[in-house]
Amino acid sequence: MTTHTTRMLIIGSGPAGLSAAIYGARAGMQPIVVQGLQPGGQLTITTDVENYPGFRDVIQGPWLMQEMQAQAEHVGTRMMWDTITEVDIAGGSPFTAKGDSGDEYVGDVLVIATGAQAKWLGVPGEESLSGKGVSACATCDGFFYRGKKVAVIGGGNTAVEEALYLTNHSEDVTLIHRRGDLRAEKILQDRLFAHPRISVLWNKRVEEFLGDPLAGGLTGLRLADTETGEFSTFGCEGAFVAIGHAPATELFRGKLPMDESGYLLVKPGTPKTDVPGVFACGDVMDHTYRQAVTAAGTGCMAALDAERFLAEREFSKVAETAEA
Ligand code: NDP
Repeated sequence: MTTHTTRMLIIGSGPAGLSAAIYGARAGMQPIVVQGLQPGGQLTITTDVENYPGFRDVIQGPWLMQEMQAQAEHVGTRMMWDTITEVDIAGGSPFTAKGDSGDEYVGDVLVIATGAQAKWLGVPGEESLSGKGVSACATCDGFFYRGKKVAVIGGGNTAVEEALYLTNHSEDVTLIHRRGDLRAEKILQDRLFAHPRISVLWNKRVEEFLGDPLAGGLTGLRLADTETGEFSTFGCEGAFVAIGHAPATELFRGKLPMDESGYLLVKPGTPKTDVPGVFACGDVMDHTYRQAVTAAGTGCMAALDAERFLAEREFSKVAETAEA
């Protein structure tokens, strides 16, 4: 077992973690990033990215993450191919984390950037047609379905917001929900029902995504009526699964405050958790925006606040010594 010590320990290697690392390294905090099970995060399982600032042409998600990692390493970040299985934050700074490899990581500050995963339906065709008509993010991929018929699956705030967003690109948007009423807030429901280009299919469960991944992608959905059991086919070229996200916060259960969905709670407008020296950034604390650029922004905020935390602590130590 090896113990790795650093001023700044970062768990997670998506845009939030790597942005924190870039800022942290340039501020001399010699960060360690423990990459986790999906190095690079959610962008590594997407294809085209057209909304990350700085690139006029369409870029690829995995490429963007490779570049971010290369930049983080170039400025002095140590990347660790390991997954954290246990953290100890109760005693305050320094914080200790154990890796799957058996190694131990000790950081004066801890930045949590473990992200979130979109929930999927788990039905046939969903995985093979992912990126070829099936998506879990309308803001990311809606543009690619300009002028096409699209469906959104789900009945919560995300599904309704995605359906409304998609009307920017598509003339024909259908929300498909498994029950007869929506979970989304009333104001969003009112907007949805009033929209002339959105229809709703009630009491329908998606049984299968139809189409050929190698030729033309998604062509439709096979639906089952949840009341009558009848099957039908719904033709569409894009389908957005919006049935919620799961934040990766299992490690912190009982250790840090979370909301009812498991997202880490931070002081409003900051990445500060309840524990001084522990910061949370990216999708693990944001169920609203969930974009690579917002995750990168909060990663930067975490590094700046981490630097302030360490500077204030150094200052009080010096002051204490001077008083003694
Ligand atoms: P929610 O958990 O609120 O809603 C998920 C929806 O997906 C529900 O309608 C649920 O159906 C449906 N669903 C779940 N599993 C399946 C399945 N296997 N098959 C078919 N349908 C399924 O998730 P959201 O992502 O919408 O929202 C998460 C949180 O984020 C909420 O607290 C929400 O309020 C918040 N949020 C806030 C926003 C804002 O304030 N602007 C924007 C987006 C999210 P059923 O209703 O039958 O359970």
